[in-house]
Amino acid sequence: MSDILEIIKARDPHEREFIQAVKEVLDSVKPLLDQTSHYHQAAVLERIVEPERIVTFRVPWTDDQGKVQVNRGFCVEMNSAIGPYKTALRFHPSVNQSILKFLAFEQVFKNALTTMPLGGGAGGSDFDPKGKSDDEMMRFCQNFMRELYLHIGVNTDIATGDIGVGSREIGYLFGMFKKLSNEFSGALTGKGLNWGGSLIRAQAAGYGCVYFAAEMLATRNMTFDGQVCLVSGSGNVAQHTTEKLIELGAKVVTLSDSAGYIYDPEGIDKNKLAFVKRLKNIRRGRIKDYVENYPGAIYTRNDIRQQNNPLWTHRASCAFPCATQNEITEEDAYALINGNVKLVCEGANMPCTPEATAIFLSKPILYAPGKAANAGGVAVSGLEMVQNSQRLNWLAEEVDERLKIIMKGIHTTCLQAAQAYGTPGNYFNGANIAGFVKVVDAMLDQGVV
Ligand code: NDP
Repeated sequence: MSDILEIIKARDPHEREFIQAVKEVLDSVKPLLDQTSHYHQAAVLERIVEPERIVTFRVPWTDDQGKVQVNRGFCVEMNSAIGPYKTALRFHPSVNQSILKFLAFEQVFKNALTTMPLGGGAGGSDFDPKGKSDDEMMRFCQNFMRELYLHIGVNTDIATGDIGVGSREIGYLFGMFKKLSNEFSGALTGKGLNWGGSLIRAQAAGYGCVYFAAEMLATRNMTFDGQVCLVSGSGNVAQHTTEKLIELGAKVVTLSDSAGYIYDPEGIDKNKLAFVKRLKNIRRGRIKDYVENYPGAIYTRNDIRQQNNPLWTHRASCAFPCATQNEITEEDAYALINGNVKLVCEGANMPCTPEATAIFLSKPILYAPGKAANAGGVAVSGLEMVQNSQRLNWLAEEVDERLKIIMKGIHTTCLQAAQAYGTPGNYFNGANIAGFVKVVDAMLDQGVV
């Protein structure tokens, strides 16, 4: 097993995030591999870490000053053993092949956990949406889709939003996909409600994350009522995690963006959250504007020289990292433990560094990995595909009920797999093992392809 990691490191030594994601899964599935020989014989590990296909492409577009800009586009199709690739699209200046390979790798196991027939992929661009006008965004999305449409389709690869790709971007992307392919199909999810979208899709990753966390708390006879919660990020996942936490009686005291965070000791209530949604989704402003409206809150700017994020030093019983990968460092993990945290539930993908993960796993707290806890987003994307095939729109209550059932099912699956392989209560191992077994068994059934 360590050989495989060495091969990956030797082949792509600069792919730090991908190597980290692979190591996490390999560490978890070791007890499984130690018990079986047929996986070795069929080289499933060697195959599962190699994307089925990667396409990189040039995305030229014209800015509002008439100047041509060029970005790099990617489409990473990781694994289609259990279904067509379900691809998360990310637009962020940090995007590179390593980040998208990590995201695609996570997606493979996450999608397997949902019980839906969905493979895993990721795509996107190093384009920075910050400060772009709607027209610039549209021109970029249209040019990006000029290449992507060659690779996606309702039976091959279905794309949905991730960081920097929200409902506005999905609209522009879908419009161009429809024009180029001359078909109105569910090749993209997260669509507008009046043109094929599903109710609860926008809320799904955040709501699902809280449903998963509620299941974890229930194993210790606890609920969210009165629990103080730290949430990072202020985008799609953070907003809807906060919304559901408020609904379940918790007190959310923080939100952040890449420039800094706000701490509101009185708690972010429904009205304050509505302000954040307008600020982030319509005005596309910065989280620091929160304190101008709510002077009882404190804004702290990020200090890039610091190894830690002071957001995690506030005393709270639950923490929901919902911004980005590796946002919780070793120091942050100790700060949370010292603040008496009882639950850490990952809304973002791989938000904890390996050091932070090791600390959480060594303590008697409830700790859920993103590939289980944030699977609600892809689950409802899958439900959107079903509704598109049926040419039907389900009621919000129906979608929400299905989401709850799926998250409860993932929770049970993780606990059962963790128990079966000798690490009871370890959601991290449980998620990795359960997702891995489903995918590699399908790969074995389908022969050497
Ligand atoms: P959004 O683009 O809506 O929001 C991202 C948030 O994270 C923003 O507040 C952003 O701040 C912050 N952020 C992004 N990059 C960084 C960075 N390098 N450092 C600090 N803060 C950063 O994205 P989502 O909410 O959709 O995604 C958040 C996380 O959840 C990601 O890890 C994503 O992979 C994961 N996820 C998303 C799902 C979805 O359906 N959307 C489903 C499952 C997981 P700023 O505005 O300053 O950039």
